Amino acid sequence: MPLFKQFFLQYFRYTSRINPFPFVKQLLTSHSLPMPLPYLLNKSFTIFLLSSLLICFSGNAQDIDLLLKGGHVIDPKNGISETIDIGITGKNIVKIAKNIPENTAKKTIDLKGYYVTPGLIDMHVHVFNGADTESYIANALTSLPPDGFTFRSGVTTVVDAGSSGWRNFRQFKAQTIDKSQTRVLALLNIVGTGMYGRLEEQDVTDMNPTMTANMITKMFPDILVGIKSAHYWGDFTQVDLAVEAGKLAEVPVMVDFGEHQPTNSIEALFMKHLRPGDIFTHTFSYGPNNRETIVDEDLKVKPFVFEAQKRGIKFDVGHGGGAFSFRQAVPAIQQGFLPDVISSDLHSQSMNSGFKDMANLLSKFMNMGLTMEEVVLRATWNPAQVINRKDLGHLDVGTEADIAIFTLRKGDFGFLDIRKTKIDGDKRLETEMTIRAGRVVWDLNGLSVPYWESEFK
Ligand SMILES: [Zn+2]
Repeated sequence: MPLFKQFFLQYFRYTSRINPFPFVKQLLTSHSLPMPLPYLLNKSFTIFLLSSLLICFSGNAQDIDLLLKGGHVIDPKNGISETIDIGITGKNIVKIAKNIPENTAKKTIDLKGYYVTPGLIDMHVHVFNGADTESYIANALTSLPPDGFTFRSGVTTVVDAGSSGWRNFRQFKAQTIDKSQTRVLALLNIVGTGMYGRLEEQDVTDMNPTMTANMITKMFPDILVGIKSAHYWGDFTQVDLAVEAGKLAEVPVMVDFGEHQPTNSIEALFMKHLRPGDIFTHTFSYGPNNRETIVDEDLKVKPFVFEAQKRGIKFDVGHGGGAFSFRQAVPAIQQGFLPDVISSDLHSQSMNSGFKDMANLLSKFMNMGLTMEEVVLRATWNPAQVINRKDLGHLDVGTEADIAIFTLRKGDFGFLDIRKTKIDGDKRLETEMTIRAGRVVWDLNGLSVPYWESEFK
């Protein structure tokens, strides 16, 4: 009723030059309308009356489809780490508040004891899945179909890191992106054929900044969020062409800088060749014959690495099957160097190695000393900002309801890197439930469904 009263007052103040208060007062204390006939017949008044009634009644209805109640919500973008409820209607988050009443929702899931975060963004994966046996990642078996690997670890958005180039992106879109429930975004490889083979990735004549930039800005600006430079054996030529394309398209470049013999200088890469906002992936890789490391042989972070991060270079984990070592990560974290983004580098040859899935990877960083808030930030709001997709990675009202729900297990656990070494840990995240655009797409223990006997009631 206060809403109703407010509407009446505003209506009279706005549309009538007479003093509204006697009418309103009478209206609210009696059941008869006291207005003179001309007012009642006034067309705009009738419309106003009907819409006011509609608003009043809808306010009392079950206008929330799904209420996530009592979970500990971690939403780093909004500085939230507390018990708070989330209301979802259709595809979107419509309310986030303490103690949303159950009777305003058609369905409620009790999440007491669970952690609720924005759906994870895995900023480095390979999902251009196909059956071209000549190719190794582009349209090939090494790339994985996203839905089979994302939801079970709380991931709702992936960024394919350069599996395709401008020549074969449309095939990738048609056969994977358009067919997936996971939101699939992509970095376009500066090489036209993407990751077809190591040999083809050396072809400078197929690194075309203009075609790459046009594919992004003119054709698929909603999907293509950046450019990838990877696996080049030569000097800085490939990086420089990727940055040229990045300038044309106004998007960031991600660099996998690791197959040079002898190694190329990462200080020159960070300080001269890349721009603030560009991304260095495989941050904790240890393959000293191929790539310069960020931590030296005395286990000290090289000073220019801190400077590079201050300059705006974004450091991505990109764990993969060969690019994460504790001998780099543990000293770096102890010395205060934290990656900006935690990502998996998912493909068929990495998923059974040390990273396993994103929940395990976040757990690994928690056991190296990061808080849960710090790891969630690095798999939600930080990657969203790096790829300039600020509509993602948070739980703002009005955004698509992409949500992950975790159990934090306590016990004795072990975590592996790719060098077949390990650390012990006492905590592990387990993905309880994943919601993509308002729909439950992963539910480990059946929190969202009734018992089987309910079918007979
Ligand atoms: Zn990769």
